[in-house]
Amino acid sequence: MGKSVWGAALAVLAVTGAAAQDSAPPSQATIAAQRSTAAALPAEGTRDAEFSTRGFLATLPDPVIRNAVGAPVWNLDAYAFVTGPAPDSVNPSLWRHMTHLRHHGLYQVTENLWQVRGFDLANMTIIRGQTGWIVIDPLTSVETAKAALELVNSTLGARPVSAVIYSHSHADHFAGVRGVIDPADVAAGRVAVLAPDGFMEEATSENVMAGGAMLRRAAYQFATGMAPGAAGQMGSGIGMAVSTGTQSLIAPTDTIARTGETRVVDGVTLEFQIVSGSEAPAEFNVFIAPEKTFLAAEIATCTLHNILTPRGAKVRDARAWAHYLDEAATRYAPRSDAVISSHCWPIFGREAGARWLTAQRDNYRWLHDQTVRRMNLGETMAEIAESLAAAPPPGLAAEWSTRGYYGTISHNVKAIYQFYLGWYDAVPANLHPHPPVERAKRLVEALGGAERVLALGENAIAAGDYRWASELLQTLVFAAPETPRAKAMLAQSYEQQGYQAESAIWRNQFLAAASDLRGASARQAATQSTDLIAAVATQELLDSAATRFAPERFKAGPLTVALDLTDRKEQAALEANGQVLIGRVGTLPDSSRVTLRGPRALVLALLFLKQPVAAMQKAGLQVEGDAAALQGLVDALDPMPQGFAIIEP
Ligand SMILES: [Zn+2]
Repeated sequence: MGKSVWGAALAVLAVTGAAAQDSAPPSQATIAAQRSTAAALPAEGTRDAEFSTRGFLATLPDPVIRNAVGAPVWNLDAYAFVTGPAPDSVNPSLWRHMTHLRHHGLYQVTENLWQVRGFDLANMTIIRGQTGWIVIDPLTSVETAKAALELVNSTLGARPVSAVIYSHSHADHFAGVRGVIDPADVAAGRVAVLAPDGFMEEATSENVMAGGAMLRRAAYQFATGMAPGAAGQMGSGIGMAVSTGTQSLIAPTDTIARTGETRVVDGVTLEFQIVSGSEAPAEFNVFIAPEKTFLAAEIATCTLHNILTPRGAKVRDARAWAHYLDEAATRYAPRSDAVISSHCWPIFGREAGARWLTAQRDNYRWLHDQTVRRMNLGETMAEIAESLAAAPPPGLAAEWSTRGYYGTISHNVKAIYQFYLGWYDAVPANLHPHPPVERAKRLVEALGGAERVLALGENAIAAGDYRWASELLQTLVFAAPETPRAKAMLAQSYEQQGYQAESAIWRNQFLAAASDLRGASARQAATQSTDLIAAVATQELLDSAATRFAPERFKAGPLTVALDLTDRKEQAALEANGQVLIGRVGTLPDSSRVTLRGPRALVLALLFLKQPVAAMQKAGLQVEGDAAALQGLVDALDPMPQGFAIIEP
C-alpha cells in the first residue's frame, strides 16, 4: 500500500458510504462464471480459518471508531455480513478471502507477542519489552492506532510504549504514530523510533509529484465512498479498507541499513532483513529472536501483491522481490515458529511458515521469469498477461496466498514488461496512434456509426462477453459521451466484470467506473497532514509547485523571487520565465525582483493554496519589491488538482 502527502483522503471507508447507485443484479452469465470459478477452487482446508482466529483475546464493544469531532473513521463490523455461501454478485474466491480477513481484535501470537488486526488496513504488532510495549506499524490514523493501543492496555494491563518500529515507508504503517506516542517523549529520549534507511525521504516524497493523479486513480482502486456489500465494496485484498482519520509522522531516531543488523530494543533482540526496492522503496523485515517469530512486513501476505499498483506509482522490481523472499525462506524461516505480516493473519509452525514463504517466492519468481522468457521470444505485454493469467503454476494452486486478491497475474505481467521494455511494443502503428477520443471517433465511424456500435455492445452483453462489451461501449462513450444508453450499458458491462473479479481492487475499479457512469461519483479533495508536509524537502516542494506552472498565463516577464525561510534557516531562489519555473535551494539569488521572508508554511500557502499575496503579508510574510509581479506568478499556478474524468472524455 502507499499513500500520498496530498492524498491522505484517498482512503475509503465504509462507515457512511452509499451503496453503488442503481446496481444491477448478477446476470445469468455472471452466475455461471461464479459457479465455474467455485468448482475450480482448491480444497478449502482448515489452515486459514484456524490461523485467522487463533489466539483471539478481545475486541471493542462499540465497532465505530470516531475522530475528535465524533465523525466515524472506521467500522470494525463493516464486513460482518461476510458469512455463509458467496452471493452470486461476489467472486467465490474473493468471498472466501474476506471471510478470513474480516476478523478484528487483539490476538496472541506467541508468549510475548500480539497483533491488533482489523483496526485499519494494516496490522499493529505488539511485543512485550522490559519496560513497556514495542509497537511495530502504528496503522494509518491517529484515532485507530489509539483505539488499538487502548485495547492492548485494557486487555493485557497498561504499560507505556517504549519503542515504535516502522516496517516501511507507506502511510498505512506509520501515519497513526501520534496515537501511540508523544513526540515530546521521543525528543526526550524516552521512546525509540526505528525505521529502514531512507524511510523519511521515501515516506514524504513517494507521491508528491504525481499526487493529484494518484489521488483520483486511487478513488477507483479503493472504490472511495462505496459501502461494503454484496453489490458493493469487498475489501481491498490486503485488508478491509483504509481508515479516514488524522495522519501523522514522527521521524525515526535510529535507522537500519544492512541485512543482519541487530538491535536490542527495550531488552528484546531484533534482527533486520532489508527488503527495500521491492514492495516499498524503504522496507525491512524483522526477526524477533526471543519469540522465534519472523515479521515479513508486506513482502509476503495473504495475497499476490502489486508489482505496479493500478492507482499508479513507480514500477517495482519483481526479481529483487523474489530474492528477498528466498532469503527470508532460507535464512529466517528455519528459526521461526511463527511467520507474521503487517497485513492478514499469521502462519504458525516452522514448516508451514517456510512453505508459505517458499510458495510466494516461487510465485514472484515464476511471474518474473516467464514474463521475461516470453518477452525475449517476441510476445507483447497483453499476450503474455493473457497466457500466464490463464495458466498459473499448478504446483502453487493449493496455496491460497499466491492468488490475486490485490495484485493480479494480469497487471503484474504488464508491470514486469514495463520495468524492462516500457509501454511500446515495437509495432509502429502503436508508436503514433491517435489519442483516445480522436481514435474512438474514427473507430465508431469505421464500425458503422453510434447505433451500430450500440447494437454490437448490446449483443456482447447478451452473450455475457462483458470484456468486449466494455471495449466497444467505452469507445462509444469517448466518441459520443452524451449518449445515455451507451453509458448505461457500459456501466452494466463494468459492473458484471466487477462482480466476477477475484481481485478486490479490480472489483473496486469496475464498480467505481459503473458508479461514475451513473453519476454517483465521489470526488474527494485531498487533505494534508501537517507532519508529513513539514517533513518534505523544500526542493521537492518547489519542484512540485513547478508542475502546476502554466506558462501561457504568466505575463510578468522573467522573474526571480528570493525565498528566506526563516523558521528553517533555509534560503532559495525561484526563477520563472516563459517556459518553466525553476526552484533552487541553497542560497539567495544575487538579485531578485521580489524577496519573501518568513516561515515556510506561509510561502507554501502562497504556492500551493494560492492564498492572495496581501493575505499572506497580513499573516506575517514579509514581501519586499514587486508584489504585483509575485501575484502574477501565483496566478500562473494551477489550483491543487481536484479530480478529473476517467471514463468520459
Ligand atoms: Zn501496507
